[in-house]
Amino acid sequence: MDILVDLHTHTVASGHAYSTITENAAAASRRGLKLLGMTDHGPSMPGAPNLYHFGNLAVLPSEIHGVKILTGVEANITSQEGELDIPLRYLAKMNVVLVGLHVYCYPGGTVEQNTAAYIKAMKNPFVDIMVHPGRPEFQLDLERIAKAAADLNVPVEINNSSLSPQKRGAWDNCSRFAGYMAQYGGPVILGSDAHFWDRVGEFRFALELVEGAGIPEKQILNTSEQRVLSYLEARRKRRPVIG
Ligand SMILES: [Zn+2]
Ligand SMILES: [Zn+2]
Repeated sequence: MDILVDLHTHTVASGHAYSTITENAAAASRRGLKLLGMTDHGPSMPGAPNLYHFGNLAVLPSEIHGVKILTGVEANITSQEGELDIPLRYLAKMNVVLVGLHVYCYPGGTVEQNTAAYIKAMKNPFVDIMVHPGRPEFQLDLERIAKAAADLNVPVEINNSSLSPQKRGAWDNCSRFAGYMAQYGGPVILGSDAHFWDRVGEFRFALELVEGAGIPEKQILNTSEQRVLSYLEARRKRRPVIG
Protein backbone atom coordinates (compact mmCIF):
# COMPACT_ATOMS: atom_id res chain seq x y z
CA MET A 1 0.00 0.00 0.00
CA ASP A 2 1.45 3.38 -1.02
CA ILE A 3 0.76 6.52 0.98
CA LEU A 4 0.99 9.53 -1.32
CA VAL A 5 0.00 12.35 0.99
CA ASP A 6 1.26 13.52 4.36
CA LEU A 7 -1.06 16.08 5.92
CA HIS A 8 0.53 16.12 9.36
CA THR A 9 3.96 17.79 9.46
CA HIS A 10 5.57 20.54 11.50
CA THR A 11 8.11 23.24 10.70
CA VAL A 12 10.36 25.45 12.81
CA ALA A 13 7.28 27.62 13.33
CA SER A 14 5.94 25.08 15.84
CA GLY A 15 8.76 25.97 18.23
CA HIS A 16 9.78 22.36 18.89
CA ALA A 17 10.26 21.17 15.30
CA TYR A 18 13.47 21.72 13.39
CA SER A 19 12.99 22.00 9.62
CA THR A 20 11.61 24.58 7.26
CA ILE A 21 8.71 24.10 4.86
CA THR A 22 11.26 24.05 2.01
CA GLU A 23 13.26 21.25 3.66
CA ASN A 24 10.06 19.32 4.38
CA ALA A 25 8.87 19.72 0.79
CA ALA A 26 12.25 18.52 -0.56
CA ALA A 27 11.97 15.43 1.65
CA ALA A 28 8.37 14.87 0.52
CA SER A 29 9.49 15.11 -3.10
CA ARG A 30 12.24 12.53 -2.59
CA ARG A 31 9.71 10.17 -1.05
CA GLY A 32 7.35 10.60 -3.98
CA LEU A 33 4.58 12.37 -2.07
CA LYS A 34 2.11 14.43 -4.08
CA LEU A 35 0.68 16.60 -1.32
CA LEU A 36 2.20 17.97 1.87
CA GLY A 37 0.21 19.52 4.70
CA MET A 38 2.01 22.19 6.71
CA THR A 39 0.17 21.87 9.99
CA ASP A 40 2.03 23.68 12.75
CA HIS A 41 0.65 23.63 16.27
CA GLY A 42 -2.11 26.00 17.27
CA PRO A 43 -1.28 29.08 19.35
CA SER A 44 -2.02 27.66 22.81
CA MET A 45 0.95 25.27 22.70
CA PRO A 46 4.11 26.70 24.30
CA GLY A 47 6.42 28.00 21.56
CA ALA A 48 3.79 27.68 18.83
CA PRO A 49 3.23 30.50 16.36
CA ASN A 50 0.81 33.31 17.07
CA LEU A 51 -2.17 34.17 14.93
CA TYR A 52 -0.05 36.32 12.59
CA HIS A 53 1.62 33.12 11.33
CA PHE A 54 -1.73 31.59 10.45
CA GLY A 55 -3.06 34.82 8.98
CA ASN A 56 -0.12 35.06 6.56
CA LEU A 57 -0.13 31.52 5.12
CA ALA A 58 -1.29 32.82 1.75
CA VAL A 59 2.28 34.04 1.01
CA LEU A 60 3.39 30.42 0.54
CA PRO A 61 3.55 29.09 -3.00
CA SER A 62 1.08 26.35 -3.85
CA GLU A 63 3.94 24.04 -4.83
CA ILE A 64 7.52 23.60 -3.56
CA HIS A 65 9.98 21.11 -5.10
CA GLY A 66 7.11 19.76 -7.21
CA VAL A 67 4.97 18.92 -4.16
CA LYS A 68 1.63 20.66 -3.65
CA ILE A 69 1.48 22.45 -0.32
CA LEU A 70 -1.66 22.54 1.75
CA THR A 71 -1.60 25.23 4.42
CA GLY A 72 -3.10 24.43 7.76
CA VAL A 73 -2.84 23.94 11.47
CA GLU A 74 -2.91 21.26 14.11
CA ALA A 75 -5.34 23.07 16.38
CA ASN A 76 -5.70 22.27 20.06
CA ILE A 77 -8.88 21.36 21.87
CA THR A 78 -8.79 23.66 24.89
CA SER A 79 -11.86 22.65 26.87
CA GLN A 80 -14.21 19.81 27.60
CA GLU A 81 -16.68 21.62 25.35
CA GLY A 82 -14.40 20.89 22.40
CA GLU A 83 -13.41 24.52 21.85
CA LEU A 84 -10.37 25.24 19.66
CA ASP A 85 -7.47 27.64 20.17
CA ILE A 86 -7.83 29.43 16.85
CA PRO A 87 -10.72 31.54 15.60
CA LEU A 88 -12.95 30.13 12.87
CA ARG A 89 -12.14 33.00 10.50
CA TYR A 90 -8.52 31.76 10.42
CA LEU A 91 -9.56 28.14 9.93
CA ALA A 92 -11.82 29.21 7.09
CA LYS A 93 -8.80 30.33 5.04
CA MET A 94 -6.72 27.18 5.50
CA ASN A 95 -6.51 24.18 3.19
CA VAL A 96 -6.55 21.61 5.98
CA VAL A 97 -7.44 21.70 9.67
CA LEU A 98 -6.24 18.98 12.02
CA VAL A 99 -7.35 18.84 15.64
CA GLY A 100 -6.08 16.95 18.66
CA LEU A 101 -5.63 16.85 22.40
CA HIS A 102 -2.30 18.04 23.78
CA VAL A 103 -0.69 18.44 27.15
CA TYR A 104 -0.42 22.13 28.24
CA CYS A 105 -3.40 22.98 26.04
CA TYR A 106 -6.23 20.78 27.32
CA PRO A 107 -7.07 20.53 31.03
CA GLY A 108 -7.81 16.79 31.01
CA GLY A 109 -10.86 14.99 32.29
CA THR A 110 -12.53 11.62 32.63
CA VAL A 111 -12.72 9.24 29.67
CA GLU A 112 -16.29 10.43 29.18
CA GLN A 113 -15.32 14.12 29.22
CA ASN A 114 -12.31 13.65 26.94
CA THR A 115 -14.39 11.66 24.47
CA ALA A 116 -17.18 14.24 24.49
CA ALA A 117 -14.66 17.03 23.83
CA TYR A 118 -13.08 15.07 20.98
CA ILE A 119 -16.40 14.22 19.33
CA LYS A 120 -17.63 17.79 19.72
CA ALA A 121 -14.56 18.96 17.79
CA MET A 122 -15.23 16.30 15.15
CA LYS A 123 -18.64 17.85 14.60
CA ASN A 124 -17.14 21.29 14.00
CA PRO A 125 -17.58 21.92 10.24
CA PHE A 126 -14.24 23.78 10.13
CA VAL A 127 -12.35 20.68 11.29
CA ASP A 128 -11.17 18.25 8.63
CA ILE A 129 -9.19 15.55 10.42
CA MET A 130 -8.85 14.34 14.00
CA VAL A 131 -5.38 13.28 15.10
CA HIS A 132 -3.75 10.73 17.37
CA PRO A 133 -6.65 9.47 19.52
CA GLY A 134 -4.43 6.61 20.68
CA ARG A 135 -1.96 8.81 22.59
CA PRO A 136 -1.95 7.71 26.22
CA GLU A 137 -1.94 11.21 27.79
CA PHE A 138 -5.72 11.54 27.55
CA GLN A 139 -7.76 8.37 27.63
CA LEU A 140 -10.62 8.23 25.15
CA ASP A 141 -13.46 5.84 24.41
CA LEU A 142 -11.88 4.65 21.18
CA GLU A 143 -14.86 2.61 20.07
CA ARG A 144 -17.15 5.66 20.30
CA ILE A 145 -14.65 7.69 18.30
CA ALA A 146 -14.47 5.03 15.58
CA LYS A 147 -18.28 5.00 15.41
CA ALA A 148 -18.34 8.82 15.23
CA ALA A 149 -15.77 8.78 12.41
CA ALA A 150 -18.05 6.51 10.40
CA ASP A 151 -21.25 8.45 11.25
CA LEU A 152 -19.74 11.89 10.58
CA ASN A 153 -17.39 10.82 7.76
CA VAL A 154 -14.47 12.55 9.48
CA PRO A 155 -11.10 10.83 9.04
CA VAL A 156 -9.20 9.92 12.18
CA GLU A 157 -5.45 9.55 12.13
CA ILE A 158 -3.16 6.66 12.87
CA ASN A 159 -0.10 8.67 13.91
CA ASN A 160 3.23 7.16 12.95
CA SER A 161 5.26 9.18 15.39
CA SER A 162 3.21 7.95 18.39
CA LEU A 163 4.14 4.38 17.45
CA SER A 164 7.90 4.81 17.36
CA PRO A 165 9.74 2.51 19.78
CA GLN A 166 10.99 5.51 21.81
CA LYS A 167 7.42 6.35 22.76
CA ARG A 168 5.67 3.84 24.92
CA GLY A 169 2.07 3.25 25.67
CA ALA A 170 0.48 4.16 22.35
CA TRP A 171 0.78 0.89 20.47
CA ASP A 172 -1.92 -0.99 22.39
CA ASN A 173 -4.38 1.92 22.20
CA CYS A 174 -3.70 2.52 18.50
CA SER A 175 -3.99 -1.15 17.73
CA ARG A 176 -7.38 -1.35 19.47
CA PHE A 177 -8.44 1.80 17.68
CA ALA A 178 -7.42 0.40 14.28
CA GLY A 179 -9.52 -2.68 15.07
CA TYR A 180 -12.58 -0.47 15.75
CA MET A 181 -11.95 1.52 12.58
CA ALA A 182 -11.84 -1.74 10.61
CA GLN A 183 -15.11 -2.78 12.27
CA TYR A 184 -17.07 0.46 11.74
CA GLY A 185 -15.54 1.41 8.39
CA GLY A 186 -14.97 5.15 8.95
CA PRO A 187 -12.23 6.97 7.04
CA VAL A 188 -8.67 6.51 8.28
CA ILE A 189 -5.68 8.70 7.52
CA LEU A 190 -2.03 8.04 8.27
CA GLY A 191 0.10 10.94 9.47
CA SER A 192 3.85 11.13 10.00
CA ASP A 193 3.64 14.01 12.51
CA ALA A 194 7.19 14.81 11.39
CA HIS A 195 9.07 17.32 13.52
CA PHE A 196 12.19 17.00 11.33
CA TRP A 197 12.42 16.65 7.55
CA ASP A 198 13.68 13.07 7.57
CA ARG A 199 10.36 11.90 9.07
CA VAL A 200 8.15 13.49 6.42
CA GLY A 201 6.30 10.69 4.61
CA GLU A 202 7.46 8.11 7.15
CA PHE A 203 4.52 5.78 7.82
CA ARG A 204 6.26 2.49 8.60
CA PHE A 205 4.68 1.78 12.01
CA ALA A 206 1.26 3.14 11.09
CA LEU A 207 1.20 0.92 7.99
CA GLU A 208 2.14 -2.13 10.02
CA LEU A 209 -0.72 -1.34 12.36
CA VAL A 210 -3.45 -0.74 9.76
CA GLU A 211 -2.39 -3.77 7.75
CA GLY A 212 -2.45 -5.86 10.93
CA ALA A 213 -5.98 -4.64 11.64
CA GLY A 214 -7.09 -5.55 8.11
CA ILE A 215 -8.09 -2.00 7.12
CA PRO A 216 -8.40 -2.01 3.33
CA GLU A 217 -6.60 0.49 1.13
CA LYS A 218 -9.82 2.16 0.00
CA GLN A 219 -10.65 3.06 3.62
CA ILE A 220 -7.38 4.99 3.96
CA LEU A 221 -7.82 8.51 2.66
CA ASN A 222 -4.21 9.28 1.83
CA THR A 223 -3.57 6.34 -0.45
CA SER A 224 -4.86 8.68 -3.17
CA GLU A 225 -4.13 12.35 -3.83
CA GLN A 226 -7.51 12.75 -5.50
CA ARG A 227 -9.37 11.18 -2.61
CA VAL A 228 -7.79 13.68 -0.21
CA LEU A 229 -8.54 16.67 -2.43
CA SER A 230 -12.12 15.57 -3.09
CA TYR A 231 -12.75 15.04 0.61
CA LEU A 232 -11.37 18.48 1.54
CA GLU A 233 -13.34 20.17 -1.22
CA ALA A 234 -16.59 18.48 -0.20
CA ARG A 235 -15.95 19.42 3.41
CA ARG A 236 -15.48 23.08 2.45
CA LYS A 237 -18.75 23.13 0.56
CA ARG A 238 -20.59 22.12 3.73
CA ARG A 239 -19.12 24.89 5.87
CA PRO A 240 -21.20 27.86 6.96
CA VAL A 241 -19.99 31.19 5.61
CA ILE A 242 -18.05 33.28 8.12
CA GLY A 243 -18.85 37.00 8.12
ZN1 LIG B 1 -0.26 16.42 18.01
ZN1 LIG C 1 1.66 17.10 15.21
